[in-house]
Amino acid sequence: MRRGAESGTPSGAMSDALKPLIEGLREAATLNSVLFALEWDEQTQMPPGGAEHRANQKALLARLTHEKATAPALGEALARAEAAVTGFAPDADDAVIVRQARRAYDRAVKLPGSLVEETARVTAHAHHAWVDARKHADAARFAPWLARVIDLCQQKARCLGAEGQSAYDTLVDEYEPGATTAELNEVFGTLKAPLVALVAKVGASGRAPRRDLMTRAFAVEVQERVGRIAAEKLGYDFARGRLDVSVHPFSITLGPGDSRITTRYHANRFGDSFFGVLHETGHALYEQGLLPEHFGTGLGEAASLGLHESQSRLWENLVGRSRPFWAHFWPIVRDAFGATLADVREEEFLFAANDIRPSPIRVEADEVTYNLHILLRFEIEQALISGDLKPHDVDAAWNDKLRALLGITPRDAAEGCLQDVHWSGASFGYFPTYTLGNLYGAQLFEAARRDLGDGLDVDFARGDFSALRGWLRKHVHAHGQRYLAKDLVTRVSGKPFSADAFLRHVNSKAETWFGV
Ligand code: ZN
Repeated sequence: MRRGAESGTPSGAMSDALKPLIEGLREAATLNSVLFALEWDEQTQMPPGGAEHRANQKALLARLTHEKATAPALGEALARAEAAVTGFAPDADDAVIVRQARRAYDRAVKLPGSLVEETARVTAHAHHAWVDARKHADAARFAPWLARVIDLCQQKARCLGAEGQSAYDTLVDEYEPGATTAELNEVFGTLKAPLVALVAKVGASGRAPRRDLMTRAFAVEVQERVGRIAAEKLGYDFARGRLDVSVHPFSITLGPGDSRITTRYHANRFGDSFFGVLHETGHALYEQGLLPEHFGTGLGEAASLGLHESQSRLWENLVGRSRPFWAHFWPIVRDAFGATLADVREEEFLFAANDIRPSPIRVEADEVTYNLHILLRFEIEQALISGDLKPHDVDAAWNDKLRALLGITPRDAAEGCLQDVHWSGASFGYFPTYTLGNLYGAQLFEAARRDLGDGLDVDFARGDFSALRGWLRKHVHAHGQRYLAKDLVTRVSGKPFSADAFLRHVNSKAETWFGV
């Protein structure tokens, strides 16, 4: 591990000065991890009757965690630690621990407990209103709740915002530290025209895969078996994790040595569960690659949601839809499903797994159109937070934008502006991290290929993913929050962060499969 300082302070002295801080941070993180255990249970095991008591448990724990995270004694330990790391290189271990502790402490202290509580209360109701509105495909039912959530987000931005920072900048910074609206606008600006043009060219190519391949009768127990095989081969450690079923797939870490994933199974949609498992495995490999000795500090936590998503997308799309990957997995999958895939050639399956076509639902979108779904949300949520767009106008704005970007119109609001859970939970500023993840992932994968050479494809075709996993662990996972995500990507790849690698990837994919 890298530690120490340019000023040459002996390392023993440093650790002692940080000890009370690290103890405080670890205690807060341990308490918070109890919340994750309850969350996992709620999503995978809990009977409906447990909902009310669980809500009380979570509210109490959230309050206790907030008290721990804002304790004056922690603030004093932090101030002493800051004095001890003066003059340290910004990426030295102790400097990173102190910097990230300051960020978390200031954010926790600046947010009044009353606002935190009010947000928890309103979002619980807003969630039910969203479920109800979606069921009835009625955007107007959700609009008043959307207005209340937006008001709370604006209040939060006022509490946390720095001088000259826009409200949306402040909200984005929570999920993607260091990212700004201006930078995101630039990134989406470079993506928009090429992706819209690519989708049009693919549509006009006259080529399409056999789409029925993905919607045949796939026995659920077989889906589960091959999903487990894939997760294990990618390197997911089942002794430090588990795979369960939930309505919405997710990954969650209960503590060092316990990073869990979930998926869902539909009897006639193998792709959902299989690529979903690869995706969540990518998230979990990041968590399993964090260094357990740094639990509770910034060195033991993921750098950003965007970097987290880069890991899931890299394994799901760049590895999991590639020819070498299927050279290994096709015989396993074909044989496991018996008659279901008996008449299908590997090439046909691979084409179906690499389909590109406009569709209304984000979570079902392919690698190319996915980012246009995100661009739409990015534009709408900025306008909502600035006040330029009113909540009751979201439905119309959504449909206009979808038509302009993808040339399609949702059947109703359930398939349109009510499809995502994020806004009901006050997660404004979250969406752009999905696209950042796609771009980071592509740039990191190019760098891994440069470092590891063509042997990587030979490895994949043998079902050996250890070289790539080891590379990611060393260059990405083990750093925790040492660098901002985009700085880490720039460092590792040797190139400024941009959309270039991603555009190269999707252009070559479109050429391979659609001849455009
Ligand atoms: Zn993800």
